[in-house]
Amino acid sequence: MSHTITLIPGDGIGPEITEAARRVIDAAGVRIRWETVDAGEAVIPQYGTPLPRQVIDLIKKNKVALKGPLTTPVGKGFRSINVALRRELNLYANVRPARSLPGIETRYRDVDLVVVRENTEDLYAGIEHRVGNDAAESIKIITGEASRRIAGYAFDLARRQGRKKVTVVHKANIMKLTDGLFLDCAREVSKAYPDVIFEEMIVDAMCMKLVQSPEAYDVLLLPNLYGDIVSDLCAGLVGGLGVAPGANIGAEAAVFEPVHGSAPKHAGKNRVNPLATILSGVMMLEYLGEREAAERITAAVFKVLANKSSLTYDLGGSAGTGEMAGAIIKALERNK
Ligand code: NAD
Repeated sequence: MSHTITLIPGDGIGPEITEAARRVIDAAGVRIRWETVDAGEAVIPQYGTPLPRQVIDLIKKNKVALKGPLTTPVGKGFRSINVALRRELNLYANVRPARSLPGIETRYRDVDLVVVRENTEDLYAGIEHRVGNDAAESIKIITGEASRRIAGYAFDLARRQGRKKVTVVHKANIMKLTDGLFLDCAREVSKAYPDVIFEEMIVDAMCMKLVQSPEAYDVLLLPNLYGDIVSDLCAGLVGGLGVAPGANIGAEAAVFEPVHGSAPKHAGKNRVNPLATILSGVMMLEYLGEREAAERITAAVFKVLANKSSLTYDLGGSAGTGEMAGAIIKALERNK
């Protein structure tokens, strides 16, 4: 079967890492027609916006996209393009797995977590205003509908992946109405999944537990802001942002992208780790039903990591982005 996929190279290091991921996916033999569209800083002069209409239209048309990170200009008129994209396409579930990888030594072993983050509301609704000269307010929005939907997604994911436990993470002791609603919805949804263990954890305690014994957790279910913060923490448990993939899933479209940003100081130097984007590509292949190709790429990645010969700087090596992708392609070809 062939697929048409929207490719958004993105800003900063985006073009290098998406090119690396595209090469690896193509080498796995999946029949993909890539339709590339630019977004981000480079298109602002031409379109007056970092997110021109044709980007949304192309993702809607093809339904699946692989995306590099986009820079959010600080102090200019644009809100985060990523947040806008997720809201515009109603990509309500942000899924970020963190698992121990062979050859990457961290303080932890046997980490195998999936962060499921609500992706459309909470403080990311972007409703902020100044109050007088010396104060500002930001409004936190939580709805029952979005909370039940993300809770259902987390439990379904647990079942689909044979996972045992869902931990809902909240701060309902302080934010009794907003986080309280999120928690109530998780409790309600959990009743339909008696085969999955349900656990509740306050977000500060969760952070401590994660750095003490991450192997004790399985699926984490969080509102938007805690999900953002905790997913970077989880990336740190297994080797850092360079190896942390992600997916934004909605009912009508899905956008796969690394957890990390555009790392502008490394842009154009062919030195950053392409793995987070390659593993996002693996998640995309699984979503497309291309299981065998996803497994072959994963095996090739594991082989390169275990060999330790073609690793980028963040993993203690000196290989470039292209070189690491090349080593993965070689490992793929040897496994044919
Ligand atoms: P960042 O994730 O871009 O980079 C932080 C640091 O992490 C880098 O300086 C680098 O040391 C390391 N790093 C990141 N990716 C790496 C990789 N692939 N290999 C090796 N090391 C890597 O975070 P930032 O500097 O806070 O953000 C830069 C820009 O990216 C901002 O404009 C931000 O808004 C944007 N951003 C975009 C997304 C997205 O598109 N989804 C996500 C996060 C941040």
